[in-house]
Amino acid sequence: MQQHNSKYDVAVVGGGIVGLAIAYVAAQKGLRVAVFERHPKAQGATIRNFGMVWPIGQAATTFHRAMLAREIWLELAQKAGFWANPGGSLHLAYHEDELHVLEEFVATTRQVGYQCQMLTPLETIARSNAVNPVGLEGALWSTTEVNVDPREASEAIHRYLIQQLHVDIFYNTVITNIEYPCVTSGVSEWKAEQIYVCSGADFETLYPALFAESGMTKCKLQMMRTAPQPNQWQLGPNLAAGLTLQHYASFAHCESLQLLKKRFAREMGDYNRWGIHVLVSQTRLGELTIGDSHEYGLDLSPFDKSLVNNLILKYLKKFLKAPTTEIEESWHGIYAKNPGKTEYIVQPEEGVTIVNGLGGAGMTLSFGLAAELFGQSVSYKTTAG
Ligand SMILES: Cc1cc2nc3c(=O)[nH]c(=O)nc-3n(C[C@H](O)[C@H](O)[C@H](O)COP(=O)(O)OP(=O)(O)OC[C@H]3O[C@@H](n4cnc5c(N)ncnc54)[C@H](O)[C@@H]3O)c2cc1C
Repeated sequence: MQQHNSKYDVAVVGGGIVGLAIAYVAAQKGLRVAVFERHPKAQGATIRNFGMVWPIGQAATTFHRAMLAREIWLELAQKAGFWANPGGSLHLAYHEDELHVLEEFVATTRQVGYQCQMLTPLETIARSNAVNPVGLEGALWSTTEVNVDPREASEAIHRYLIQQLHVDIFYNTVITNIEYPCVTSGVSEWKAEQIYVCSGADFETLYPALFAESGMTKCKLQMMRTAPQPNQWQLGPNLAAGLTLQHYASFAHCESLQLLKKRFAREMGDYNRWGIHVLVSQTRLGELTIGDSHEYGLDLSPFDKSLVNNLILKYLKKFLKAPTTEIEESWHGIYAKNPGKTEYIVQPEEGVTIVNGLGGAGMTLSFGLAAELFGQSVSYKTTAG
């Protein structure tokens, strides 16, 4: 066994956003941090997602964590030199029942602190000329959503941690065993005061028995990207529409959602079957990122379905007016989900903490959660923008 003499304050297994957030917060506190990533660079859910920091989708219980994370994202984007666009979002209503859910959401959440308001069709179109005006009944405008390009952001954060915060990142290093205070990869061993396991959808390598009994599952999402839009065409705010209302926890308490769900069950069977709701965002280079579907289970097909992508694009065309939706790239990503919960945090042994199961909100919540884990209270500047 090759033992590395120096002892770290914090060892993090996994170079996805959860591991990076913990490494960032710990290193900022002056702690000596090591990150272990099995691949030559991160390739998991963190580089496959939309890059949407999405407070408006969070229930009241995690909204403030999301807002703290938003603030950290914007600060880190400046420091690490990656693009972050605090352009907000529009949830578009093309049916009376969709409008009712949005109105009920605004009326019932005033005390939470969501920074949003209802817009008329004319006001909506004034905010974004990418919105299809035909049949538009209104929209929810929210100021708090931020976009990053996850591929660029992930690389920049890795670089920043190494160069500016002196974090040791060991790539091509799969951690195969943990026995506190040691983390082991093949014949190499390191020691740390605190060990965080942030292995995302890999439940098989470390503490497999614990994951097996935890009820944690995986979710596969199909995604697409267009080429850059011509002539510097701008999407403006991120766009979502009716299907999204049955997806995010923030809307779940709305009584009017039941009627909408009944209509979708009648009219949108294929969409429900593949867990599709449709969001669109734009990268710095002008590409549109489009998704997504949700297939749950521990035995997910490695193959993508064109049926699913076609359904997503068909729905997108109902609300988006863009110069081109010709697809240049498609892929899928898999995240870990703790059903009914916003995360999975357990201590399998003294000194070791598993942080996982952030589901579809890892980009939105990781920095806030990491700050909480290291003792920061959830406070942030109250006004977005
Ligand atoms: C298609 C898609 C779209 C999404 N869109 C959004 C969005 O817009 N906004 C949002 O908030 N969230 C979004 N999410 C969710 C978000 O991407 C995830 O919650 C988040 O990326 C999970 O981060 P993670 O660090 O847990 O996992 P990962 O990013 O998968 O990282 C885990 C890392 O651990 C490494 N690893 C695992 N085991 C070991 C080991 N034993 N030794 C060494 N390394 C190991 C892996 O190689 C991997 O790099 C989306 C997810 C997907 C898939």
